[in-house]
Amino acid sequence: LTEMNARHLWHPMAHPGEMQANPPKIIIGADGVSITDLEGHTTIDAVGGLWNVNLGYSCQPIKDAIAAQLTRLPYYSAFKGTTNDAAIELSVRLAGMFGPDGMTRAFFTSGGSDSVDTALKLARQYHRLRGEASRTKFIALRKGYHGTHWGGASVNGNPAFREPYEPLLPGCFHVPAPYAYRNPFDESDPERLAALCLSALEAEIEMQVPSTVAAFIMEPVLGAGGVIAPHPSFMPGVRDICDRHGVLLIADEVITGFGRTGDVSGARHWGVKPDLMCLAKAMTSGYFPMGAVMANDRLAEVFEGDGGAMIGTGYTYSGHPVGCAAALACLDETERLTLWDKAAYQGARLKAGLQDLATRHDAIGDVRGEGLMCALEIVSDRQAKTMDPARAGRIFETTYKAGAMVRWSGTNLVMSPPLILTDADCDRIVSALDEGLGAVGA
Ligand code: PMP
Repeated sequence: LTEMNARHLWHPMAHPGEMQANPPKIIIGADGVSITDLEGHTTIDAVGGLWNVNLGYSCQPIKDAIAAQLTRLPYYSAFKGTTNDAAIELSVRLAGMFGPDGMTRAFFTSGGSDSVDTALKLARQYHRLRGEASRTKFIALRKGYHGTHWGGASVNGNPAFREPYEPLLPGCFHVPAPYAYRNPFDESDPERLAALCLSALEAEIEMQVPSTVAAFIMEPVLGAGGVIAPHPSFMPGVRDICDRHGVLLIADEVITGFGRTGDVSGARHWGVKPDLMCLAKAMTSGYFPMGAVMANDRLAEVFEGDGGAMIGTGYTYSGHPVGCAAALACLDETERLTLWDKAAYQGARLKAGLQDLATRHDAIGDVRGEGLMCALEIVSDRQAKTMDPARAGRIFETTYKAGAMVRWSGTNLVMSPPLILTDADCDRIVSALDEGLGAVGA
């Protein structure tokens, strides 16, 4: 399998050199919050799949719901003139769950990248329907990640995901992220940094001319960019700026939706009501590919008023009944277990454990986290904050051997474990990292 994988299987987001140094783990089984590789080595999955497996790998209600739906109606999507009962029921559930965020309408997609591209399109169409077709530009944060399709790639903050594919969507601009450990303002105070980033955003909108800007898109807590939680003043400040300039606010909640930050949504965590919300990942806890864009009444009025407008975008698998059934069972479990409270509690516990590690391991330059998404930034020199992705890669390997799969992303080691984590699981992640760091003398 290892040899065939190297010969035939191209991996997203992986560099061949990295893959040689760290051959991919071939996962062949999973149980609860643990995964087992081809060699029979079992580790706790501190990544939760790809930030999505909130309920772990043994969630019987989701498995049963999928099996029942497959038997009754394996396929018929919510597309043009048809829909299905599971899709309707799920749209009602989502409107209930995200109602406090102002979300009243659901549009189903097959994953996060679909949700982002759909939201960008809906934002442009909204302005066009209101007679403001000049509003076509998008602004995003420099460390943000918004998926891999053309729209998402265009607003992605990481040049590595943009440059090979240029020219991308014209009219996409980036402003500094409120990343206190490293930023162009050399400002380490999160509140002052938030104010500086807000000024930079407003200056960019003014420079672009507000009547040409369609939307600002942000992750409430930046995930793939290295788990960057802004100061609580940041997202409310963004909402004010967007309102002042007639710009829509798109919350990319592909990671933060469904509880990970310690609240049902990341927007709610910061007390903000966006115009559009991108969802995916934990919507089915990884049991089926599924995503959604949620919209508020402001958009609904424009899309539904005056005879309405056709949404000229959609997918064969929009509202896939099996995905919807999986999501309904997943939402039942998420609510029954109030997973957001667990995320807040275990997140605080994990962050405290990581902060303790930082007192003993020089390789840790920064400890970040919000809810159950945390990161260690690995450096070779703490004073100079020298990034050291190779060292991070070595620690990733030794930590894996010590019993925890974390996510190696450049100079960061990221954790986003299932939200059903127990105290003992949480402690296992910290002790595996302790051992992993020690094993490389870090
Ligand atoms: N937005 C964010 C914030 C993400 O983290 C991701 C995936 N990591 C995406 C969009 C894209 O989602 P998908 O991989 O399901 O297309």
